[in-house]
Amino acid sequence: KLSKRLKAVANYVDNGARLADIGSDHAYLPTYLMQKLVIDFAVAGEVVKGPFEIAKNHVSEADLSDRIEVRLANGLGAIENTDKIDTIVIAGMGGILISEILEAGKEKLGHVKRLILQPNNHEESLRQWLVNHQFVIKKEEILLEAGKFYEIIVAEPLSKLMTEKLSVNDLTFGPFLSKEKSTVFQQKWQKELNTLNKIIARLPEEQAEKRQEVLNQIARIEEVLR
Ligand code: SAM
Repeated sequence: KLSKRLKAVANYVDNGARLADIGSDHAYLPTYLMQKLVIDFAVAGEVVKGPFEIAKNHVSEADLSDRIEVRLANGLGAIENTDKIDTIVIAGMGGILISEILEAGKEKLGHVKRLILQPNNHEESLRQWLVNHQFVIKKEEILLEAGKFYEIIVAEPLSKLMTEKLSVNDLTFGPFLSKEKSTVFQQKWQKELNTLNKIIARLPEEQAEKRQEVLNQIARIEEVLR
């Protein structure tokens, strides 16, 4: 029942994790992980009333209300200290929104051991946020489902004095994804390259600055695909 994308996200949740799924929608992910006996406690946070009510019903029908707390809350506001959450999933949103949720809830991240993030776009902003906040990217995955590309970024905290160094290319293409260069990765960036080539074909010569910017992007993608 779980999508290929959410199953891939679920794979990064360790046995015995205390999970917060932020923007849980119908709480499919924590319900699945509970039924598979991977986890024994989860918070499902949802900011919109409709999905929150559906999530609550869904969890109660699965007879899991004592172990999955469904909370109506904005971002990491769903997490309480006493939950002892060690793993946070934020999936199926834009990379900028995910960064904003992490930024607004920074003080909730102190005891967290792993972030499992699945941005639908703007992966580079999210990687930049992680680097700026002493997180290190441990794993990445890219997958294609129903014609859409999805990236998964797994990050863990570094000691306060350390920062990961990522080049601009790492921020854009992903430090792991750009090394693996899987077929899906190549398809994603080939598609982006095709889009940029169409853009450049239509950009008039007078817009020299914009043209240069697009040409630089094209060169970077061609380089990584080589
Ligand atoms: N996480 C699920 C998944 O990956 O399939 C659901 C993704 S759904 C597209 C995004 C959900 O995040 C929506 O239900 C939306 O209401 C919720 N959401 C958006 N901003 C949020 C926030 N600041 N706090 C909590 N939930 C939020």
